[in-house]
Amino acid sequence: MVRKVIYKCPNCGSTNLVPLMGFETGMQYNCLNCGYIGVLRIMEKKKK
Ligand SMILES: [Zn+2]
Repeated sequence: MVRKVIYKCPNCGSTNLVPLMGFETGMQYNCLNCGYIGVLRIMEKKKK
């Protein structure tokens, strides 16, 4: 059994998130689907 964690955009629910490096703000995430940029993301665990 493998547990996989996926991350979703809090704005549109897309999984097209890419990490952005910020010097003062820390890690941020950019959604390629809707253009959202922020530190929030939805973590979802999937069992398979
Ligand atoms: Zn999005």
